[in-house]
Amino acid sequence: MRYGIIADIHANLEALEAVLATLEERGVDAYLSMGDIVGYGADPTACIDRIRELGTKVVAGNHDWAAANRLSLDYFNPYAREAIYWTQERLTPDHLKYLQELDLTLEEGEITLVHGTLYDPENFDYLLTAYDAHLSLQLQTTKLCLVGHSHVPITFLLDGSVSYSFDSEIDIAGIEKAIVNPGSVGQPRDENPKASCALYDTESRIISMERVEYDIEKATSKILRAGLPEVLAERLWLGK
Ligand code: ZN
Repeated sequence: MRYGIIADIHANLEALEAVLATLEERGVDAYLSMGDIVGYGADPTACIDRIRELGTKVVAGNHDWAAANRLSLDYFNPYAREAIYWTQERLTPDHLKYLQELDLTLEEGEITLVHGTLYDPENFDYLLTAYDAHLSLQLQTTKLCLVGHSHVPITFLLDGSVSYSFDSEIDIAGIEKAIVNPGSVGQPRDENPKASCALYDTESRIISMERVEYDIEKATSKILRAGLPEVLAERLWLGK
């Protein structure tokens, strides 16, 4: 089985389509997503439709739950908050219901999905350090856990102790457990503006991180035309 792994799409349809084309070319049987389908970008409903049509298994991101009125906006910065209000005005009752019904965690075979961490999924903490990974790994019952939220691709490996890797290809066959963040499809923050995603082959047990060029010009002009904050367009060019 080959899984296409996508997170933090953030209503960026151009990035999503580019990533899906690349993953399809590589050969994918099913898609997994760690949430934040909406927020920041100009195409929330089109991105939800695309994700649903692929039968993607999805968990809730903080932006999804905020748009669905399941999470307070107190901890959102002003730009993120403005984008959530803008998104809420565009969701149909059907899209709203879809976001409302997303769970915080989900298991698919030997894989667990969560947006933030397993120790505090409802608070959407960032899993950034080996210590954060250690805490989450204690609750992880599957070999692999996929996370999102930080928008930075990284893998944490438990093999006696916890280490991390930025390698683009990682073999987890001999590893006790792993946590993988594939980076963000729609708003990369590692100073590489290319869309980020990953592929996991359950037979070879190899995780491949992928970077994909997409039409940033089109995505940013949609953001500006929509009247969303300019900074949300600018950051896509910078990858931060
Ligand atoms: Zn996000």
